[in-house]
Amino acid sequence: MRTPTAPDRSRFRVLVVEDDDTIGRHLETGLRSNDYAPTWSRTGAGALAEATRTPYDVLLLDLGLPDLDGLDVARTLRARYPDLLIMILTARTDDIDVIAGLDAGADDYLVKPFSLTVLLARLRAHLRRHTVAFAPQEPIRLGDLVLDTTARRCTLHDREVPLRPKEFELLALLTRHAGEALSRETLMAEVWDENWFGPTKTLDVTMAGLRRHLTEAAEASDHPTRLPRITTLRGHGYRLERWC
Ligand code: CA
Repeated sequence: MRTPTAPDRSRFRVLVVEDDDTIGRHLETGLRSNDYAPTWSRTGAGALAEATRTPYDVLLLDLGLPDLDGLDVARTLRARYPDLLIMILTARTDDIDVIAGLDAGADDYLVKPFSLTVLLARLRAHLRRHTVAFAPQEPIRLGDLVLDTTARRCTLHDREVPLRPKEFELLALLTRHAGEALSRETLMAEVWDENWFGPTKTLDVTMAGLRRHLTEAAEASDHPTRLPRITTLRGHGYRLERWC
């Protein structure tokens, strides 16, 4: 059975508004290769139009645009989409511009030139908080398992599966990326800490606990049970299969 995690929710959609070809292309390529779904607009008007067509999770906004003032774009989109994560990319280094950007509704800013690594780290940190704070998600069904990340409940045939907090977060992350290989480093960074550089044995222990709790719940059930399958990818990480 295909999980109801719609493909458009499995990746964060990012609207990049940048008139500089080099930076725009760099961002588009970098975001795409890091599992985001970017759309690149070179003008403010184009971005406003695009935002009405597609719901976006993130706006990466250059302030110096050829047609509109980036601050006006930020103000307009903030008013329309209170949940949108807005990050300003600015060559303007004056504090006053940064303050104006934040006043216009931006959540954060990066001063050019910035590194893609730093941008991605900031995005991850924001989105983790944002997802929890703003985006109640529909419960996800995986075989007979239902994962409700809003209520933080995992149930099998309507009976709660007792998962430890990190086991739940690990399952939720794998589920959001069902069908995708996730590296050990990505899992450690997302579930534990974005600055994790230490040993990853704790991941194996948590994964073993998650699998054990799921298996025990299935065995305790009176019903025939289909559980989501988590494949170990030797030397890389794990993948939750889209098919149970
Ligand atoms: Ca510019």
